[in-house]
Amino acid sequence: MHILIIEDEKKTAGFLKKGLTENGFVVDVAHTAEDGLFQVHASDYDLVILDVMLPDKNGWVVFEEMRKGGRHTPVLFLTARDCVEDRVKGLELGADDYLVKPFAFSELLARVRVVLRRPQAQQSTEIKIADLQIDLLKRKVKRGGQQIGLTQKEFVLLTLLAQRSGDALSRTVIAERVWDMNFDSDTNVVDVAIRRLRSKVDDPFAQKLIHTVRGVGYVLEAR
Ligand code: CA
Repeated sequence: MHILIIEDEKKTAGFLKKGLTENGFVVDVAHTAEDGLFQVHASDYDLVILDVMLPDKNGWVVFEEMRKGGRHTPVLFLTARDCVEDRVKGLELGADDYLVKPFAFSELLARVRVVLRRPQAQQSTEIKIADLQIDLLKRKVKRGGQQIGLTQKEFVLLTLLAQRSGDALSRTVIAERVWDMNFDSDTNVVDVAIRRLRSKVDDPFAQKLIHTVRGVGYVLEAR
């Protein structure tokens, strides 16, 4: 289990990292919101422990940016203020849990285990972009309520583009993620796969979702 701690107080962060590592977790630490957001998007964490009071941006903003960026990693907030407003705000935003400082490490560990044991139902199992719906559990794709049959690779490719909707993905990134290998950058494997995907997902519909970004690769978004 891979955990990211976003906490500017170095002592607290160090203490949490030590304790969690001793309990078998793999732990990374970020001391600023900016660094934390970068790390959240760069790797796949099972849990983020997020301090509300950070020097650059507060934890609520970090949380909203994570979700907007498509990261549905569970979040356990740390707050110094036992304030009703904070509590309400956290729940409204969909925080998984939070702890009021100061807390005993044993309490944190118990909360971490509860959040990690929770079924993934907390995470979104469906992606919706315009009239495109991707059911990640059933591996089914629909547009305008109409079922679209995709091969395994096409499904993975579409899901990758949809999960990173709005980000232009390079052919290299797509090749690595979908085929799990490196391709020569001038190979047209990705282009061929995109063309096939478009013929099923975009061609029969007026609104196009998969766009070519010249010199970069492809982006999926509703324009
Ligand atoms: Ca702090």
